Amino acid sequence: MKYKLETIPVWDALNENCECPFCILMEKAEARYIKYYLGNSAMNPETRVEVNKTGFCPQHFSGLLLARSPQHLGLIAHTHLQHWMDDLDKKYPSRRKSLLERLSRKGPTQSEAFSDHIDNRTKSCLICDRIERTLKRYTFTSVYLWKNDEEGFRSGLESSKGFCIPHAKELLLMGEEILNQQEFSEFATAIENLQKKNFERLEEEINWFTQKFKSENHDKPWGSAEDAHYRLIQKLTGKITAH
Ligand SMILES: [Zn+2]
Ligand SMILES: [Zn+2]
Repeated sequence: MKYKLETIPVWDALNENCECPFCILMEKAEARYIKYYLGNSAMNPETRVEVNKTGFCPQHFSGLLLARSPQHLGLIAHTHLQHWMDDLDKKYPSRRKSLLERLSRKGPTQSEAFSDHIDNRTKSCLICDRIERTLKRYTFTSVYLWKNDEEGFRSGLESSKGFCIPHAKELLLMGEEILNQQEFSEFATAIENLQKKNFERLEEEINWFTQKFKSENHDKPWGSAEDAHYRLIQKLTGKITAH
C-alpha cells in the first residue's frame, strides 16, 4: 500500500522528547478532525452523507460537544438521527417476515441481526477512521526515516523515550509491511531495545514516586519522578485524552 511521507511532524514530535511521539501526533490529529467536522467545509453534501451514515463514537461525539459549536453539531446530530429513524423502519425486528420464511431461515434471529447492526453502527466513527489512516502515514514515515537513516533518525530515536505500547505495536506492524526480512529483524531489535531501556527508566521513576510518599522521604527531591504515574499510564495505554 502507498502511504504519504510526512517527515516534519514526525521530527517535531520526536523532538518533544515525551513518552510517545505518536501520542502527540494523534492528539493533534484528533483536535484537527474535531474542528473540521464542526467547520463550514464539513457542511458540503458528500461529508454530510458520510456523517449521517457513519457518525462518531461516544468519545468523539463528546469531543464535538466539548468544542462548543452547537449550531453545527445540532445540524449534524439532526440528520444523523434521521438516518437512524430510517434504520428503525427498515431493520427493526418487528418488520417480521412471513412464518414460512422465518421457519426456514438459518443464522441469527431477527433480534440478533438487529443487535449486530446496532453494534456495528455505534462502533463506527469518522474521526477514529481518519485518525487510524493518519497514524499509518506517521508510522510509515518513521519506518522510512529509520530505513534511510535520514538526518540521523536512528540516533534520534535511540535517544528518545520510545513509544507507548499500542503505538509501538503499530510501528512494528508497519515495519513488517514495508521492510525486507533482514531490515525488519534489525528494526524490531532496535525498537525492542529502545522499549526495554525506557521501561527500566520508568520503573525506576515510578518506584521513587511511590517511595516519596513515605515520611522519611518527604524532604528528598522528586527528581524526574513527580509525574511518573501519569507518564507510566500513558506508556502502558497510549495518550490519556483531554475529554
Ligand atoms: Zn502513543
Ligand atoms: Zn471515534
